[in-house]
Amino acid sequence: MNYDALKQEILDHAESLGIDKIGFTSAGYFSELKNRLIRQQELEYQSGFEEPDVEKRTDPSLLLSEPRSIISIALAYPSKMKDAPRSKAGERRGIFARASWGEDYHTVLRDRLERLEHFIKERVPHARFKSMVDTGELVDRAVAERAGIGWSAKNCSIITPEFGSYVYLGEMITNLPFTPDQPMEDQCGSCNLCVDVCPTGALVQGGQLDSKKCIAFLTQTKGFLPDEYRAKIGNRLYGCDTCQTVCPKNKGIDLHLHEEFEPEPELAKPLLEPLLTISNRDFKEKYGHMSGSWRGKKPIQRNALIALAHFKEKSALPAILTVLKEDVRPVMRGTAAWAAGKIGGVEAEEALLKQKAVEKDLDVLNEIEKGLQLLTKES
Ligand code: SF4
Ligand code: SF4
Repeated sequence: MNYDALKQEILDHAESLGIDKIGFTSAGYFSELKNRLIRQQELEYQSGFEEPDVEKRTDPSLLLSEPRSIISIALAYPSKMKDAPRSKAGERRGIFARASWGEDYHTVLRDRLERLEHFIKERVPHARFKSMVDTGELVDRAVAERAGIGWSAKNCSIITPEFGSYVYLGEMITNLPFTPDQPMEDQCGSCNLCVDVCPTGALVQGGQLDSKKCIAFLTQTKGFLPDEYRAKIGNRLYGCDTCQTVCPKNKGIDLHLHEEFEPEPELAKPLLEPLLTISNRDFKEKYGHMSGSWRGKKPIQRNALIALAHFKEKSALPAILTVLKEDVRPVMRGTAAWAAGKIGGVEAEEALLKQKAVEKDLDVLNEIEKGLQLLTKES
């Protein structure tokens, strides 16, 4: 079998397979990455969502026997939304990060990896694969970097010259011995913009991310959001794009190459108030196909309360106070108390005092106190 010819054939068919960029690398050990991951664990920079076994994350031979190469794939996603609805007084809106627009990219990339597997298997029947996207053991970015898809940038994204950092990544380990591509040179240079503008200082020098400080991670947590981050999350419901939108390498890049990734404006930038009381069923029906829904409705609803507080949206106060009084989840009642205090006014004060008298949950009582203090501070 001429694997260089097959490699070329794969590259020639990438577009028809619905893949925007393909790179090849060896299936060797990711030794540098291993040191970095251990260091991240020591510094407690990890989010907890990742595969905990560092060996599995860095040794492809633990995932597929006798691996010879890894094929990295990239699909570009849009950075701009046509007909984006405006957030205005009385009709405040939140925002899902771009990586959650349209259909869940895990589904789409899995489909493309399957197409690629099929394409290769038709030509090499003994080919074996282990494919993964995001939640797999391997680190997509480390694979993409080594396969020359782009460089590993200071904002912790892979930046491709063609699509900027607006790309989803996936990969497959295979037993076929393809010639590896060369990694790309780092092109961040002396730029430090993303590190400078990160609202929470989550980007640590040297292209490291302190995940626990990153808004993208914080928007996915289910508990109370720590006080110091509440003002920073703004109206973000899921994810954060700031370190990508400021990047000069992304300037002017807005690719609409896949129908699946087209945002539905009313879902990507939804009205906040209806989210507060949305049922599980409606949430699943409306948002279930978006990657941003993977943690369920609770984090999104909590973030919606924080966003309404951020806007100091008085018209939403009755809905917020209903959550304070009636929601069975302490995180929702407590965050509503804090949001009511932030918005302020006599109605908020009365409701907070009333709830204080009947509330049993200590965390919620703590948030009610915070709300009452905010009333005096912000009025
Ligand atoms: Fe900072 Fe947002 Fe980038 Fe996270 S996603 S590193 S919070 S700018
Ligand atoms: Fe690199 Fe500058 Fe983009 Fe950050 S903003 S990723 S430093 S080019």
